Amino acid sequence: MLRINELVLPLDHTEEELNAAILERLGIKADELLSFSLFRRSYDARKKAAITLTYTIDVELKDEAGVLERNRKKTNVGPTPDTGYHFVGQAPAGLKKRPVVIGFGPCGLFAALLLAEMGFNPIILERGKTVRERTKDTWGLWRQRELKPESNVQFGEGGAGTFSDGKLYSQVKDPKHYGRKVLTEFVAADAPPEIMYVSKPHIGTFRLVKMIQLMRDKIEKLGGEFRFEQRVEDVQIEDGQIRGLTLASGEQIEADHVVLAIGHSARDTFEMLYERGVYIEAKPFSIGFRAEHPQSLIDKCRFGPSAGHPILGAADYKLVHHASNGRSVYSFCMCPGGTVVAATSEPGRVVTNGMSQYSRNERNANSGIVVGISPADYPGHPLAGIAFQREWESRAYELGGHNYDAPAQLVGDFIANRPSTAQASVEPSYKPGVKWGDLNPSLPKYAIDAIREALPAFDKQIRGYSMHDAVLTGIETRTSSPIRIKRDDHTLQSLNTRGLYPAGEGAGYAGGIMSAAIDGIRVAEALALDIIAESGRR
Ligand code: FAD
Repeated sequence: MLRINELVLPLDHTEEELNAAILERLGIKADELLSFSLFRRSYDARKKAAITLTYTIDVELKDEAGVLERNRKKTNVGPTPDTGYHFVGQAPAGLKKRPVVIGFGPCGLFAALLLAEMGFNPIILERGKTVRERTKDTWGLWRQRELKPESNVQFGEGGAGTFSDGKLYSQVKDPKHYGRKVLTEFVAADAPPEIMYVSKPHIGTFRLVKMIQLMRDKIEKLGGEFRFEQRVEDVQIEDGQIRGLTLASGEQIEADHVVLAIGHSARDTFEMLYERGVYIEAKPFSIGFRAEHPQSLIDKCRFGPSAGHPILGAADYKLVHHASNGRSVYSFCMCPGGTVVAATSEPGRVVTNGMSQYSRNERNANSGIVVGISPADYPGHPLAGIAFQREWESRAYELGGHNYDAPAQLVGDFIANRPSTAQASVEPSYKPGVKWGDLNPSLPKYAIDAIREALPAFDKQIRGYSMHDAVLTGIETRTSSPIRIKRDDHTLQSLNTRGLYPAGEGAGYAGGIMSAAIDGIRVAEALALDIIAESGRR
């Protein structure tokens, strides 16, 4: 196959025009082209009146070598690179101890899948419930104000991104094309096939729930064993080597190889690991609010007369402002056409995040508007970031009225520094509800000052962003892990605990579904190679 890069066509081109552009680029006649498939499609909306699509296309030809030779001077035509996934090895026969994966979010899922595919028969321990049961519990907080600390938006089968926008793009370097493996597995589990080629793929909540069940079935068929509602409560470490785990039930599991994929909200597990001497350090994260605007405002600003075009879908945005107090404010986890959700896993606390369905057709766009903070803001102890998060999340619970309502303020009032008393034209989507008031006491002053300065600055990039009626809902604190469970760059094992593979977002090595899944693959490979090497030495 040959690959054509950077084929640019107008947004409303026809199939025939695409076909003609391929023939023209390669300088061939129609009967020389056997077939073609899309590898990537992105849009360029810098000129709103003339939005274009940019394609990367793989073609099958009658005479590939001849066409390649004729096009050898063109930089945008060449052989299609191999982006397929190749296993690093197979489990040795008669493996005595099975590897264990703790946590079944995207990181644990891909670690478990890879280990199962290589024949390692992993055991997967997940503190939360299966995704169907978990869905009911999660909606329980949103509809009835009932939080289940072990089964919620953060904990349970599928991990934190199950009730999400399901955005699948990431900026991590991926020289081995692990992202293709992730997308291929998702499509095999019934994700929309277009995620393979659109530049900003997303799935949406309902589809994710079904996909996760199908992926669990696949891992089970390959020899994986799932144990839900099994929280790992302790670890046994002997002479710097992990030897086993204790579950909340008291049961012990022997294990010399453990993937720790516990997400950024497993605060009790972080504390336990720290007490057991596993090397942990504080890391930066971000805090702020969720902002909600009419989706139509964002669409119009980004796409002009093409707003609403089916190929473009609901528009997203990315904003950054460097505030005069030295803080950076930026948009985080933007969800076009979605809703703001209650995302706490601990009682008496309020945390926001965003989600959407595949259609992204809710009325509002929402995004975290967050301020970068660092251990200098919570000094003294490697786990001080957790105490910091808890303090502000508890305050948000108080400001919301002690019933899981979230504190909220209109953007116009926030900028003018006066409390809000009622909603205006933008209806807040956060469930169970919001309490209007003053967001000043909900975050440290430096964060409030930076956001207050950023909102009018964002208006210069998206006209109307600082509109009076837009809504700020507090607070956003779980933007990434407040700690890093440091690992060796080469073996991917904990710096001081052999056999323990800290992975994904909780360990500080990912930020999002795709990067967590890719990290799961990397760690599974490192673990597999270690077991294979060990068995070779015996
Ligand atoms: P997690 O997904 O957090 O999974 C960790 C798992 O470990 C959990 O299931 C937990 O129950 C389990 N666990 C924890 N402790 C233990 C223990 N002691 N014993 C056993 N099990 C344990 N990212 C995107 O890229 N796109 C999005 O659109 C997006 N939207 C989001 C929307 C929401 C509402 C939320 C909350 C997050 C969203 N994210 C999104 C972030 C994304 O979900 C995370 O980055 C990703 O899930 C991290 O994957 P992970 O596997 O490292 O951890």
